[in-house]
Amino acid sequence: MYFCIQLNRNHLFRTLNEIIMDKLNILLQDQQLEATLKTIAEKVLNNDRITDDECLHLYEQAPLSYLGVLANHIREQRHGDKTYFNRNFHIEPTNVCLYTCTFCSYSRLIKKREEGWEYSMEDIMDIVKKYDDEPVTEVHIVGGVLPQYDIKFYSELFTNIKQHRPDLHIKALTPVEYHYIFKKGKVSYEEGMKMMLDAGLDSMPGGGAEIFHPEIRDQIAGGKCSGEEWLRIHEIWHELGKRSNATMLYGHIEKYEHRVDHMSKLRNLQDKTGGFQTFIPLKFRNKGNQMSHVKESTTIEDIRNYAISRIYLDNFDHIKAYWPMIGRTTAQMSLAFGVDDMDGTIDDTTKIYSMAGSEEQNPALSTEALVKMIRSVGRVAIERDTLYNVVTDFTGVVFEDDKQFKGYVSLPVVN
Ligand code: SF4
Repeated sequence: MYFCIQLNRNHLFRTLNEIIMDKLNILLQDQQLEATLKTIAEKVLNNDRITDDECLHLYEQAPLSYLGVLANHIREQRHGDKTYFNRNFHIEPTNVCLYTCTFCSYSRLIKKREEGWEYSMEDIMDIVKKYDDEPVTEVHIVGGVLPQYDIKFYSELFTNIKQHRPDLHIKALTPVEYHYIFKKGKVSYEEGMKMMLDAGLDSMPGGGAEIFHPEIRDQIAGGKCSGEEWLRIHEIWHELGKRSNATMLYGHIEKYEHRVDHMSKLRNLQDKTGGFQTFIPLKFRNKGNQMSHVKESTTIEDIRNYAISRIYLDNFDHIKAYWPMIGRTTAQMSLAFGVDDMDGTIDDTTKIYSMAGSEEQNPALSTEALVKMIRSVGRVAIERDTLYNVVTDFTGVVFEDDKQFKGYVSLPVVN
């Protein structure tokens, strides 16, 4: 009975995938399709790059269904039904910060530092040790910016983690922290990144990018590293042969032009270095920050944004939906709009988005729950390490819970 169902499901998916691939051709035959949208669709079909103006046109004019066909075509060409996730945990050494980014719900000002937390080296190592018997592959470290967390502190921290657990991948700190600690330590970016590499840093997360354009960046994140500095630090890291991710904080006071400008700068740098792995659009959340009066983007806008980034960023391998920020349901939906990565299990170890009003107040998922979330929308769950090496392909893995007959057979949800 079970094999019968599996066979039928596989057949069902194969047939549907063929239909999905055909959708682009059907779209191109649509006589009503507006000229620029037709040109863009042809470019996608021929694997040609779209221009910045065409990207802007997508933001301004493209219907969601059109974007879905294009983005899903690209996603399936590259990854088929594979959807990646990893087993990770976060450490946020402090939420006290020298800066006052207006979108930030997480940080506490130095004058109110008693409301926040400031972990010592020992506190952080205790968190790492908590995972000694867990099959996690990555620790993700980001937090506020404070003088005591300097080059020496972070070098020692990376070294200590590596000494304790050499196989744990350290993905840590953004150019916001690096710019500050290198300036304070009077070392160049080049020297500083080399020191981090020698201490044990494996890769850099994509945070701190916000919106690069100074017209917006100065208003929402004034004082911290500029867009150029953010890009330069990633470039140096890539030149050292290492990988990183990139984000974009959208849906606040920026215009579509600013989003295009942001992604254009990322695409240009990626042409030069090839060091980015994943692009992660981050939705602005408005709870408990200085921009609470700014309305949040709609789910439709979030999905459109994923799709457009997949179409525009032709030199990025992966587009990620960060489920603690966007919520599980939207993250599942995004898998039909260009997204192929769902981040990780996280284990309730980040407060950044729960404090900003995300639906996910205690972000933690078991591996089984994450796999089932992916399967329930007709995709295949692949556990990866940080560098996208396959750890476990969950195709055909049957969980204990699945063996119990519940009186119904769950069918995949397909778009
Ligand atoms: S976003 Fe980062 S740099 Fe800005 S205030 Fe928050 S913790 Fe500090």
